[in-house]
Amino acid sequence: MSAKDYQKDYYKTLGVPKTATAAEIKKSYRELARKYHPDANKGSAEAEERFKEITEAYNVLSDAKQRKEYDEARSMFGGFRVPTGSRPGPGGTTFDLGDLFGGGTDGLGDVLGGIFRNRTGTASSRARRGADVETETTLSFGDAIDGATVSLRLTGEGPCPVCGGTGAKSGTVPKVCPDCHGTGQQSRNLGGFGLSEPCKTCRGRGLVVEDPCQACSGSGRAMSSRTIQARIPAGVADGQRIKLPGKGAPGEHGGKAGDLYVRVHVKPHDVFGRNGDNLTVTVPVTITELALGADIKVPTHRGPAVTVRVKPGSANGTVIRVPGRGVRRKDGTIGDLRATLEVTVPQELNSKAKSALEDLRIATAGPDPREELLRRARQE
Ligand SMILES: [Zn+2]
Ligand SMILES: [Zn+2]
Repeated sequence: MSAKDYQKDYYKTLGVPKTATAAEIKKSYRELARKYHPDANKGSAEAEERFKEITEAYNVLSDAKQRKEYDEARSMFGGFRVPTGSRPGPGGTTFDLGDLFGGGTDGLGDVLGGIFRNRTGTASSRARRGADVETETTLSFGDAIDGATVSLRLTGEGPCPVCGGTGAKSGTVPKVCPDCHGTGQQSRNLGGFGLSEPCKTCRGRGLVVEDPCQACSGSGRAMSSRTIQARIPAGVADGQRIKLPGKGAPGEHGGKAGDLYVRVHVKPHDVFGRNGDNLTVTVPVTITELALGADIKVPTHRGPAVTVRVKPGSANGTVIRVPGRGVRRKDGTIGDLRATLEVTVPQELNSKAKSALEDLRIATAGPDPREELLRRARQE
């Protein structure tokens, strides 16, 4: 039995005097157990908690040896409230009460609530933040720019729905571990030093299940899935990880929910590309449009085409900036559309066009445009 058990008044829990006989204890336990049995109080967490307290008290007081030990310890320590932290234990050794109260338990022990932790503690001292969860989603090009509400199916481990996480078959509850009395710890005495290690009987849970739930084989855990609606903000890029606070696994004992991280994949667009906050598009132009200049129409994403001016003598590959037609930024400003001019060379020429081009060749004849290139290539 651990020191923390001594602060609990098991007699009060069972509503009997300290002088009660074994028969009186049993009688009172039966009445209370019937009243607070989970089957008779469907869904009441309070009743379940009471039932566990009663059972824990009865497990100790119904065992003559444990009851004697308990009574002795109570008279030695008194019914004091054990402060969190270390205090000298019997025999002058020191044990860390913080281990017992705040120590990490998982699975069953946690699901069952604080019965093995400091009952005078506040909710926050038992509160446990839910786990962070990661998932993925794929957005269309447009939804990534505009933002979208998506359905996300989250799969995770949670309490078994059949037994409510207790691991015990319906209508039964786990028993307080007889070897460690619910602490989940066993102490060994090594030359005057108390050494704590996880209880082998209950593997540190503090509870033993005698009649396991068939659905979860007594583990109390089950895989479950839920679907949530999540808002993906405008302007996400392919491969970006979005944090949705509080959308992860629910917390326990009033703890905050974990965060959800969504890895976003963006499908490519047939026409537009993206470079940060700017959109890109490749626009075909003719040789004469580049040479003579022209007003040409450029498509915009989710908007009407805009007319832009190609300056006379523009090179192939010239980028024309169209302000305000890109991706909306967080501050409300909008990126650009960058239109790259790509010359198209006519594949078939009628005789008129052909002779016009012949005339152009003669009119623009001059030094070999590759002369400079060839000269530089010969150096070194
Ligand atoms: Zn179960
Ligand atoms: Zn144990």
